[in-house]
Amino acid sequence: MTIFGKIIRGELPADIVHETDEVLAFRDINPAAPTHVLVIPKREIPKLSDVQPEDAALLGTWMLAVCDVARKLDLSDYRVVINCGAGACQSVFHLHAHILAGRELSWPPG
Ligand code: AMP
Repeated sequence: MTIFGKIIRGELPADIVHETDEVLAFRDINPAAPTHVLVIPKREIPKLSDVQPEDAALLGTWMLAVCDVARKLDLSDYRVVINCGAGACQSVFHLHAHILAGRELSWPPG
């Protein structure tokens, strides 16, 4: 099980900002911006490339949760990042979206 699995089960503490039966959002322990929140489906899917057509509803719920969190935190401009695979800097293999806000964000990302 990953660190995020332990957070879902309440075995590790987290600064939770939003929770439903299907998704959980909590602040990143090592923030890369003044606001840095991770939004995860509770179901353990290691990475975006593992997603299957039958996961469509969960993916929709997950992205709607990203929007809900951004609204809840009153974010106007923000970036949503999904790292897929170690070569793309994914370090925790439980599907998650980063919400980054509160500073100028440049493009392209590094
Ligand atoms: P990624 O590199 O896309 O896999 O992102 C994983 C993120 O999880 C990193 O930004 C880490 O700082 C964050 N992280 C790791 N452990 C924890 C934790 N216990 N609580 C909150 N965030 C964490």
